[in-house]
Amino acid sequence: MSLTLRLFEVGHGDSILLEEKLGDQSRFVLIDCNSRMRDGALHCPPFEYLKLRGVSKIDALVITHLHADHYFGVHLILDSFSVGKIVVPPFISQNDRIFREVVEQYKRKLRDAVARSSSSTIGARALSLARLLAFICENEDLVQEGKGPESILRFAGISTFEARVLLPHKRIKGLLNEQLRTGKFDLDSYPGWNDASLAILLEVEGVRILLGGDSTLPQWNEHMRQMKRDGKSSWDVVVLKAPHHGSDHNNTAALINYLYGVNPEEPAAILVSANGRSHPGSKFYQLVKESGLTPYCTNLSTSCADQALEDLDNFPAEMRQFLMHYPVNRGSARCQGDVVVRVNNGRAELFNTTGHPCVYDDMASRAAWSGP
Ligand SMILES: [Zn+2]
Ligand SMILES: [Zn+2]
Repeated sequence: MSLTLRLFEVGHGDSILLEEKLGDQSRFVLIDCNSRMRDGALHCPPFEYLKLRGVSKIDALVITHLHADHYFGVHLILDSFSVGKIVVPPFISQNDRIFREVVEQYKRKLRDAVARSSSSTIGARALSLARLLAFICENEDLVQEGKGPESILRFAGISTFEARVLLPHKRIKGLLNEQLRTGKFDLDSYPGWNDASLAILLEVEGVRILLGGDSTLPQWNEHMRQMKRDGKSSWDVVVLKAPHHGSDHNNTAALINYLYGVNPEEPAAILVSANGRSHPGSKFYQLVKESGLTPYCTNLSTSCADQALEDLDNFPAEMRQFLMHYPVNRGSARCQGDVVVRVNNGRAELFNTTGHPCVYDDMASRAAWSGP
């Protein structure tokens, strides 16, 4: 019995595949789906991976919130696999009229976006969102809304792990409905969606992993207040997918303490799935270092690479070429590739597919290097 999480390298965005293995049987839950356009074609790592594995069914699809970096390419998933359940943030009004208004607003905005642009990316994004909303409307019985501060997600047939939704708070629903219903949002730049992002706590054999989605500090602050009132001061997670791609304003020392506890246990790790340019932030990296967490990042960040280049002489020879390559391709160079977390016998093990260590992590443990 084991649980594997695969955090795909999808640039700035999330796509995390959970695989529960019982004997030779695997069950899958996909949390978010991001893709990239490459030479005019859609490249969707979770789709390609599932196809390669010969999978025909995923037990659940979870979309943390409706930003494109969390749903781009999801039409490929919905069109190719049977989906047992879909979990979404609380934006589906029980009032049919309100929900129809929300869907109408989305349709209008999708039509506008497609009419205004001839970009194949915009077209593919619009298709993903339209297909996702259609799936939600047509499969009411498969939809579960996730709400915090602590509610259980049930996945039929899955027994290895428990999943709890910690965020967003229930009361975001009214606000969200009102903004969506009245069309006071932009398709992809509506920041309010991050306040409604799901944050999901997985617990397997006593190991806690928190997938923070794009959850925001105000939501976490409220969570901390409520939990403190109930006498709870930390969640003792060992692995965290940093909220909002490791942005500086949503990741504070107080939040890190709240999630990991004061003395995080081995192998306390932090995962980032960002573009390497705007995210993760440089203060965030400082915080990771001070907190003694092991960073795993699917893309090379400017903030760590800049420091790394200053210290090029101190780097192991095999890392140099990789680092020299970075300024030439300024932007998101591939860093650790897919990051894999495997929980087995009550322990979390972490791997990454390129074999590169996180540049920042090596900086932090420079004393351990034996030189070129
Ligand atoms: Zn995002
Ligand atoms: Zn977002």
